[in-house]
Amino acid sequence: METRFASIRKNFHKIIPLIRFAREEEIKDALKMYKVDLNKGLFRCMVCGDIVNEMNIGMLIKYHDKVLVVCKKESCMEEIDFVKIYDRL
Ligand SMILES: [Zn+2]
Repeated sequence: METRFASIRKNFHKIIPLIRFAREEEIKDALKMYKVDLNKGLFRCMVCGDIVNEMNIGMLIKYHDKVLVVCKKESCMEEIDFVKIYDRL
């Protein structure tokens, strides 16, 4: 019997491709793919609320029609795990 936690975690993997960026080219490709223009200043880190641009993006998360971003501060990156994202949405 699966626990509720395990079930959420499992399903979450199916609906949210989560990208951790390592290289600048990966960031640019992914931003293009998701049609995200960070230069418009419309994206804020979902943890700390800072405006996220190409210089400080840590993660890009696609959730249905929404694109969520996380800045690359270690505290913000650590804050994000699947269960916490699920709770916020
Ligand atoms: Zn942040």
